[in-house]
Amino acid sequence: MAQPKSKKPSYLETRARNIRRHALRMGAVQGQGYIGQALGWADVLAVAYFHAMSTTPKDPESESRDRFLLSHGHYAIGHYAALIEAGFIPEEEIETYGSDESRLPMSGMCSYTPGMEMSGGSLGLGLPIAVGMALALRAKGNPAFVYNSMSDGELDEGSTWEAALGAAHHKLTNLICLVDINNQQADDKCSSVMALEPLKEKWAAFGWHVQRANHRLGVEELAGVFDKARFTPFPGPRMILFDSLMGKGVSFLEARENNHFLRVDESEWQRAIDELDAVDKRGSAWTSQ
Ligand SMILES: [Mg+2]
Repeated sequence: MAQPKSKKPSYLETRARNIRRHALRMGAVQGQGYIGQALGWADVLAVAYFHAMSTTPKDPESESRDRFLLSHGHYAIGHYAALIEAGFIPEEEIETYGSDESRLPMSGMCSYTPGMEMSGGSLGLGLPIAVGMALALRAKGNPAFVYNSMSDGELDEGSTWEAALGAAHHKLTNLICLVDINNQQADDKCSSVMALEPLKEKWAAFGWHVQRANHRLGVEELAGVFDKARFTPFPGPRMILFDSLMGKGVSFLEARENNHFLRVDESEWQRAIDELDAVDKRGSAWTSQ
């Protein structure tokens, strides 16, 4: 549940809230979407795009860019929000979300959208692609990093674990994986479909440097987690497991059950945006407790 705390929002808090606002505006255009995930993942996106990564919004295919792979293509609404906030996509395109001819289809596709590095939809493909990209960058002497963003449901996929082995075998120090641990997938809770824990120990046993953070962490502290992932001397790939809160930042969406694909009434989209705006007007940041 969101609770106000009395301090001026930081740069990263403001970026995270803007990402949430863009995502809600897109959701309102179509009246639906994976908005619970977008709100829950916004802090990670804000830190990735506004602290951790070297990005080139005006030249999205620059060789020097860090790559951000959206393996969970259904998180596109959140990723577009980050790309809009970062300047890859004009804000006006929010109004086109999910429509024919839009550059913002409901699942992420690299041929449509500037800054989208892979086409998603089928799950469990991001990490194998990330391993290939990280190998290729190293072979070319390119110091850029690959960030692979994925869901906990993708940990049910064998391809993910094959890639985990390969990344460690090849000692890919330029690969950082971000997993959204929300214990939710399309059919049920992840823990009911396939037991995954203890995840930290499993990834460490696969040869990865592993950190686990959660949504109660402020974005500034989360930036420190990202720094550690990138700069810690460790002879292999790096993992950040992030226990997120679906719907974060909008109290009535945080509280909603069965939130994999949220049903949001027409009036609630504006109510959600109003809740974010009210925080801005108060001049205080919220944090979930
Ligand atoms: Mg999930």
